[in-house]
Amino acid sequence: MEKVLFDLIHLSHELGREDRDLAILGEGNTSAAVGTGQFWVKASGSHLATIDENGFSLVALDVVRSLCEEKALTDEAVAQGLVRALVDKNHRKPSVETFLHGLCYLEAGVTWVGHTHPVSVNAILCSQAGAKPFLRHLFPDGIVVCGAVPAVVPYIDPGFQLALAFREELRRYLDRYGFPPKMLLMENHGLVALGQSATEVLNITLMADKWARVILGTYGLGGPRFLSDEETRRINERQDENYRRKQLGAA
Ligand SMILES: [Zn+2]
Repeated sequence: MEKVLFDLIHLSHELGREDRDLAILGEGNTSAAVGTGQFWVKASGSHLATIDENGFSLVALDVVRSLCEEKALTDEAVAQGLVRALVDKNHRKPSVETFLHGLCYLEAGVTWVGHTHPVSVNAILCSQAGAKPFLRHLFPDGIVVCGAVPAVVPYIDPGFQLALAFREELRRYLDRYGFPPKMLLMENHGLVALGQSATEVLNITLMADKWARVILGTYGLGGPRFLSDEETRRINERQDENYRRKQLGAA
């Protein structure tokens, strides 16, 4: 088995671990670029916790790119497009979130993506507050691992329409900051971690889960006391924190 697929299976098992409350049953999906205009992505209906190589499909990025040129696609056109994108027609139909994963590779230049529905993160994203509590930081490691600012999309029908909104937000983010987000929050839906390694995707997801639990905890004691923008910037730019970031598998 090629190393990328081996590492992708391991990442999926880590994200699907029952004790972590990040994804259950068929929830969530993972993918990894293979550097030849293709990427491995979870097949529709596979379980992250128990997935093996038969649970992944190899997909062509140029087919995903051309499908995403459309403004809208019927459910049938989406299903046909996903089959057309298969590099090996013997592979299973890829996840409906394949578009979202492909756009991370096409637009953001990352190489690993993990999408989960953590209980903790969704307790916030599904609340009246939406993604707002994540727009300012609470502790240094959240900044080091998850980046200074997350990207956010409102609730949108999962699949093709969500992917188009996701692309718009990625472009806005890149325009504004000049680098891709490490995490993207989808309100009333879940988390996407964008990384340069399987380890980075796992780290971002675990830290986002911890961050969410800390936010929820603060509401029992008067609410969050956020770091200032200046304090956040300081951590984000510190050389020793950049060193630490590299040690943690980030670019
Ligand atoms: Zn999802």
